[in-house]
Amino acid sequence: MFDVIIIGGGAAGFFTAIHIAELRPELKIAILERGKEVLGKVKVSGGGRCNVTHAEFDPYELVKNYPRGEKELLGPFHSYASGDTVAFFEQRGIKLKIESDGRMFPVSDSSQTIIDCFLNEADRLGIRVLRHSAVTNIDPLNNKDSKTKGWKLTTIKHTYECQKLVFATGSNPKIWKMLEGLGHKIETAVPSLFTFNCKDQRISGIPGVSTYADVEVFENKLADSKITMRLKSQSSKKPLLSSDGPVLITHWGLSGPAILRLSAWGARLLSDMSYRFKIRVNWLPEYSFEGALSLLKEIKEVEAKKTVLRTKAVDVPRRLWINLVAASGISKTDKWADMNNRILEVLAAELTECELKIDGKSTFKEEFVTAGGVDLKEINFKTFESKILPNTYFAGEVINVDAITGGFNFQNAWTGGYMVAKAISNS
Ligand SMILES: Cc1cc2nc3c(=O)[nH]c(=O)nc-3n(C[C@H](O)[C@H](O)[C@H](O)COP(=O)(O)OP(=O)(O)OC[C@H]3O[C@@H](n4cnc5c(N)ncnc54)[C@H](O)[C@@H]3O)c2cc1C
Repeated sequence: MFDVIIIGGGAAGFFTAIHIAELRPELKIAILERGKEVLGKVKVSGGGRCNVTHAEFDPYELVKNYPRGEKELLGPFHSYASGDTVAFFEQRGIKLKIESDGRMFPVSDSSQTIIDCFLNEADRLGIRVLRHSAVTNIDPLNNKDSKTKGWKLTTIKHTYECQKLVFATGSNPKIWKMLEGLGHKIETAVPSLFTFNCKDQRISGIPGVSTYADVEVFENKLADSKITMRLKSQSSKKPLLSSDGPVLITHWGLSGPAILRLSAWGARLLSDMSYRFKIRVNWLPEYSFEGALSLLKEIKEVEAKKTVLRTKAVDVPRRLWINLVAASGISKTDKWADMNNRILEVLAAELTECELKIDGKSTFKEEFVTAGGVDLKEINFKTFESKILPNTYFAGEVINVDAITGGFNFQNAWTGGYMVAKAISNS
């Protein structure tokens, strides 16, 4: 009989086990991992560099990065947040560095540093790490001689018994099914953190172009006409979602922080729309349509003899300007003096209300997560204990928490793991 069994040898599983073992060295702890390797996602995370956390040390600001879990994680972040993560690794000889956007990585720029740390700690603390141990059945233990009811776990080769059970199984559908069978409600899983597929002349042939923009999401049917003119009726429609930040044009469509944020906050909504919708991009976020139009009229006065294409009129990347000018029906040789009001309106609309049809999504290779998991209402966030099942806890992505990219998803795993460990060691 183990005191604690943790199902899942990922980020949350190891962090939980290490903290329990440090707080209560006498407890017999095992991690059951279905794969032949542990910490698989840590290995590939952050492009192989592992973005362990984010340099956001205020819990109130930190929670704002969680489309699901914002309310629930506020209390736990007061107990354990990014600063504690930094201290945990530093105490183990791993220095972290902060990049300009706040992401934190090991100085080695290698996720193997983090993996080695966890494996060494598990070894030092006597944690049993049982690989090739996919849990296929979970049954309550009815031991008449013992006051504490525990759990019996079945794997392909063995059965194990434990008093306390921790689910750190990430986004594993089979485990969610089992949990449903045991009485938990599971929010259905949909992808979060993805990029938008878009084939459109205005963004074609210019991969790598990145610029700050405002982006709004609309239902397909609400914005169904081709934009050659600014449509007043559309402008008044309220967007379903909006975001701002750098937008990166890729071979397939659009990526960058502003798009990833939409994919996270809109994970369920965009899934419901089968990833077919329209976006409206303001490539000149400091200007409205009217502001951009006045600006273009002024430029026309000042630069009358110059060609539109060659004038660096507004603050958008040159290659994007060329595409937007072409999309407005302006030829290479057209001069500002040739522009009538109607054409200037079309150009102002392309710059500030550029409508693009999104058709599908692509995986964001640096990081992706699943929205969905154990219903947050069924977890006590003081302890991360199940409100439905006795002696059962959750940590990491198994619960319905996920974050935008930047190290926040791991922070959820570290915080959950720490909270579970504290609760178990106090019980
Ligand atoms: C490509 C990629 C890059 C990422 N990069 C980052 C990043 O840089 N920063 C960041 O914050 N987040 C990143 N993430 C997200 C982050 O990896 C996850 O949020 C995090 O790994 C969740 O940890 P976890 O322990 O809850 O789940 P996981 O890491 O998924 O671990 C769950 C473990 O449970 C095991 N398991 C599942 N079912 C069973 C079973 N029945 N029996 C036994 N074992 C089982 C699995 O094999 C797995 O090892 C990335 C994700 C991906 C996919």
